[in-house]
Amino acid sequence: MTQNPKDFAIATIGSHTALQILKGAKDEGMHAIALCTPETRRVYESYGVADEIIELPSYKDYFSVEEQLIQKKAIVIPHGSFVSYLGPERVKNEMRAMHFGSKGILEWESDRRMEKKWLEAAGLNLPRIYDKPEDIDGPVIIKFHGAKGGFGYFIAHSPEEFYERMKAHTEKDGYVIQEYVVGVPMYVHYFQSPLTGELEIMSFDKRYESNADSIGRIAAKDQLDANIQTSYTIAGNIPVVVRESMLPMFFKIGENVVKASKDLPGVPKGLFGAFCLEGIIDPQLNFRVFEISARIVAGTNPFVNGSPYTWLRYNEPMSTGRRIAREIRTGIEQGRLEDLIA
Ligand code: AMP
Repeated sequence: MTQNPKDFAIATIGSHTALQILKGAKDEGMHAIALCTPETRRVYESYGVADEIIELPSYKDYFSVEEQLIQKKAIVIPHGSFVSYLGPERVKNEMRAMHFGSKGILEWESDRRMEKKWLEAAGLNLPRIYDKPEDIDGPVIIKFHGAKGGFGYFIAHSPEEFYERMKAHTEKDGYVIQEYVVGVPMYVHYFQSPLTGELEIMSFDKRYESNADSIGRIAAKDQLDANIQTSYTIAGNIPVVVRESMLPMFFKIGENVVKASKDLPGVPKGLFGAFCLEGIIDPQLNFRVFEISARIVAGTNPFVNGSPYTWLRYNEPMSTGRRIAREIRTGIEQGRLEDLIA
């Protein structure tokens, strides 16, 4: 049955990519609801992106306002902060409001072992994972499960160095040891449309990480004297345009990931909506993928007004947030909203 998009709302919590999601909802003529804490509401008021602000003491209290969202026929857009505040299990088992995207896929992306299985099934070129510290025979990066924004990651070159640096960490079980790939970081932002079945490349970014992106500002000798250890705490995002000859490869791997997602247990509709492949381009131009985010990523934030790629396709400002809202609006108009909620 066809319905009017104006009878529905788009809601998200005030953090991460909420500015572009809410602006996108408004630009598509839908009611935009920001869930804010007393500390965050100023931002969403200042930019005027929300038609309505619902305040809650902390984002962990999402369920205390969910009934209001259901009454308002709100479609909730999960972003990185939403998933990290609630956890993929609560999103899957307790959330009752309409959720844009497959809830089941969030479990696959948040468990590194499951994620690896999925990406291998898609035929991607992944960095080697070391089973045990004794196997370390080259540069590796140690990543802690649930680490927020790369905080606490460290580099080691030998088992001895691993154990030495591990002394500073208490979370000894929750990590992976991954081959460190030397090259340039690249984050590919996709949108898979369930309405058209088509995969779109929205934009690319690289991250601005502390202190990794500042080490080059001091001489190697000073780095050694100061005993600096590399860290990857994310502070911001920088837009990137890729070599055009690499685009066929980026389309192909994105399509393979979507195809492989359709066979994952617990994800009947597979991966759809916004997602991101995160990796390193090595000097031979191989794209070594170390992670997938199965929802909108903060790297799309530089493109509130669209990217070079969305400009080519849409000829109007099209952020990933707006693209999500357009899919929802079109889905409602075509009576296919249930294809977008999972
Ligand atoms: P992540 O939290 O997994 O997105 O990684 C945070 C940052 O660590 C990335 O932006 C990269 O700069 C770096 N990084 C992660 N994995 C690797 C890897 N396998 N090789 C080289 N750098 C990496």
